Amino acid sequence: MSAEIISGTEMRAAILEELRGEVAAIKEKYDTVPGLVTILVGENPASVSYVTLKVKTALGLGFHEIQDNQPEDITEDELLALIDKYNNDPSIHGILVQLPLPKHIDEEKVITAINPDKDVDGFHPVNLGRMVLGDKDGFLPCTPAGIQEMIVRSGTETSGAEVVVVGRSNIVGKPISIMMGQKGVGANSTVTMVHTRTKNLEEHCKRADILIVAAGVPNLVKPEWIKPGSTVIDVGVNRIGTAPSGKALLSGDVEFDKAKEIAGKITPVPGGVGPMTIAMLMKNTVASAWRHLGAE
Ligand code: NAP
Repeated sequence: MSAEIISGTEMRAAILEELRGEVAAIKEKYDTVPGLVTILVGENPASVSYVTLKVKTALGLGFHEIQDNQPEDITEDELLALIDKYNNDPSIHGILVQLPLPKHIDEEKVITAINPDKDVDGFHPVNLGRMVLGDKDGFLPCTPAGIQEMIVRSGTETSGAEVVVVGRSNIVGKPISIMMGQKGVGANSTVTMVHTRTKNLEEHCKRADILIVAAGVPNLVKPEWIKPGSTVIDVGVNRIGTAPSGKALLSGDVEFDKAKEIAGKITPVPGGVGPMTIAMLMKNTVASAWRHLGAE
């Protein structure tokens, strides 16, 4: 039997609808709306398209949205001063600096310059620390948060589940491994994180009730590595060519066509984890607005 497809596009639509209600409630209670600034440095085509989508989504929700585009040659000091300005702007509840930044700018310095309470991307070390501690006052990084939300909304049981995460990057593999192993709803799993030095990758994957793959290697996970009936979350986004229309052809890290005949539930690429990342950014911004306005 073919797996149930977990559609990130449909889940994003449902989440944005829920957030629309929250924006209206904020407006009614505080006579203001969530404020998000997106800072884009230079014109990297992928970054431009990500930022455009984020801005469009924020505007669609009725946020106060500032798209602050800066030239490629902005200095590090100028960028840090810009962040400081938004840190002190009470109409802004979320600050997003699109990565990667040009080589002459120290990304770590920029991320740590953002007020952790406005760091809606969840990359600030303070928020990563809060995530490890299970402190709900922080912001979870958006892609792992989107993965967890998909698992929960798909009705997959996480408590006691064997979760195998392929990849140990700071933005996906490591945080989602920690989050799934925490105490709490949508977690309480037994987690194994695997990587390029892991022996018997296949054997680990075969044990997984929930397999999360974030390696960036097209078709790394073979159908025979998948436990029948399991939930498979494919985070990989790999450009494998260009369609005659000029559009990029994308593949995940899992052999989707065959894997969907074995898994119980599976995410597609595109249309899986990707749309959830933006939804979580919006969710973090709304949460930040509630906290800031409530504290004023
Ligand atoms: P990354 O920083 O390159 O990390 C990849 C991880 O996978 C590394 O830990 C690496 O192990 C491991 N790995 C690579 N090849 C492997 C193999 N053959 N066997 C076992 N482990 C292997 O990548 P990332 O930033 O986490 O991104 C991963 C994928 O997710 C990419 O395709 C990226 O485009 C996609 N992504 C999607 C979203 C979204 O919103 N949909 C967001 C972020 C990333 P080592 O540590 O040993 O090198």
